[in-house]
Amino acid sequence: MVDPVELHPRAFADHLQRLGRSRAYAISDPSSTAIEVSDPALAGLANFLRASPDFNGHEAVFLGVGRKSGTLFGAFVHDTHRGQAQGGLRFWPYPTLAAFLSDGLRLAQGMTRKNALAGIWWGGGKGLIARDTDAPHRDPAYRSVVYREYAAFCTSLRGVYLTAEDAGTGPSDMAEVFTGTRFVTCIPPTVGGSGNPSPATAKGVVCAMEGALDHLGLGTLAGKKIVLQGTGNVGSAMIEELIARDVRAIIGSDINTERLAALRERYQRCETSVELRQSAPGDNSILREPCDILAPNALGGVLNPQTIPTIGAALICGAANNQLLDAARDGRALRARGIVYVPDFLANRMGIVSCANEQYGSVDNDPAIERHFGREWDNAVFNVTKRTLAFADDRGITTAAAATHLADELARAEHPIWGHRGRAIIRSLVASRWHERE
Ligand code: NAD
Repeated sequence: MVDPVELHPRAFADHLQRLGRSRAYAISDPSSTAIEVSDPALAGLANFLRASPDFNGHEAVFLGVGRKSGTLFGAFVHDTHRGQAQGGLRFWPYPTLAAFLSDGLRLAQGMTRKNALAGIWWGGGKGLIARDTDAPHRDPAYRSVVYREYAAFCTSLRGVYLTAEDAGTGPSDMAEVFTGTRFVTCIPPTVGGSGNPSPATAKGVVCAMEGALDHLGLGTLAGKKIVLQGTGNVGSAMIEELIARDVRAIIGSDINTERLAALRERYQRCETSVELRQSAPGDNSILREPCDILAPNALGGVLNPQTIPTIGAALICGAANNQLLDAARDGRALRARGIVYVPDFLANRMGIVSCANEQYGSVDNDPAIERHFGREWDNAVFNVTKRTLAFADDRGITTAAAATHLADELARAEHPIWGHRGRAIIRSLVASRWHERE
C-alpha cells in the first residue's frame, strides 16, 4: 500500500481524489497520544505526524484540494488556547507530502510561540499551498484561482485558522483571499487592512536591541556599530531607526544591486556612517564583520556550524525568521562563544502585532501598538527581551530555550472571552463530517 507521505503533494491530491475525497484531516486527542485521521487509508499520515519532532500536540492538520487547480492546501492548527490559530500563508514548492507537513508543523508551532510571547490573543497556525513546479505561478489569473480556492478552504474551516501574508504570498494575493473569506488578516489598506508591517517590525527589533544592551549593562545604541544582513523592507526601515538613535556606524549588505544603489543615494550625505555592501546569493561573509550588534534581516538558517565560529558580533538581534538552523545545537554554540542571541520570534513580533487587531479599526499613533515600543508596559519588546535574557542567565540555558519556555507557558492561557473555542470548532467540523464535503 502506498505511504501517502512519500508522495509528491500533487500525487497525494490525486490519491485523495481516488479515495473519493477532496479533504482530509488529522486531529489529536488531548487526553491521549492518539491521532485520528479522516480516512483509514491515511494511517501513514498519522504515523508520520506522531513521529514528527514538530507535531508537539498539534490540535489539527487540515488538507484540501483546489477544485479547479488540483493544488494541495494545508491549514496547520497548533494551539488554540489563546484564540484562533493564526499564521501566514506560504505558496511554496515541496518535493513530498512529508516535506509539506514538516514545514507546516514547524512554522505553526513557531507562530504559537511568537503570538503568545507578543501577548496577542491568538493561537498559532500556518497555511500552505503546495506550488506545482510546472504551474504558471507568476500568472495573475492562475494565482487568482488558487488564492480564491484557498479562501474557500479557510471559510470551510469555520475560523479555526486565520490566514495572512507570508513567503511567496503578496498583498494582491491577500486581496484575492479577502474576496472569499473573512478569516484572513494583514489585508491591504484599500480594504481596511493595516498595510506594510515592515516599519513596525524594524522598530520592534531595535527595541529588542535596546533591551539586550540594557540587560548586558552596555548602555544605549548611541555610538554603537551595527551590521545588517539584508536591507530589504525591514532592513532599510531599521537604518532609519538606528540613525535616529545616534549609532556610530551602520554596514548593510544585500544581494539586490538596485536597492543598494538607492540606499547609497539616500544616505550619501548622512552624518552617520552608512556603508552599503554588495553580497552574492548565499554569501554570509558579512557575518564576520566586527561590530556591537549583528542583525540578520535576510534569510533563515544563517546561524549554523559554518557561520557561528566566524561571527564578529557580541550580540545578535534581527528580523529574519528561524535564524538558528538548529535551535538547540546552534543556540548552545552561540552561548559557548559568549555571543548573546535575541530569539527572532521575540524580536520580530511587531509584524504580526501591527495587523493582529485590524478588525477593531484603526486610530492614529495607536496605543495598542505603541505600548510595545515603550518601556512602561510589562509586555513591551524592551521588557520582554530583558526578562528573557535574565531567565536564560538564571537557568543557565540558551536564550532560545528561555524564550521557548516563557512562550509555552503563556500559550497555555485561555482566551479571556472565548476560552478554548478552537477546540470546539474542530469538534464541530468532525461532527459535521467536514471531510466528506466538496
Ligand atoms: P525583504 O525580501 O524585503 O528583504 C530581504 C532582503 O535580504 C532582500 O533585499 C534580499 O535581497 C536580501 N538578501 C537575500 N539574501 C541575502 C544575502 N545572502 N546577503 C544579504 N542580503 C540578502 O524581506 P523583509 O520583509 O525585509 O523581511 C526580512 C526578514 O524578516 C525575512 O526573513 C522575513 O521573513 C522576516 N520578517 C519580516 C517581517 C516584516 O514585517 N516584513 C516580520 C517578521 C519577520
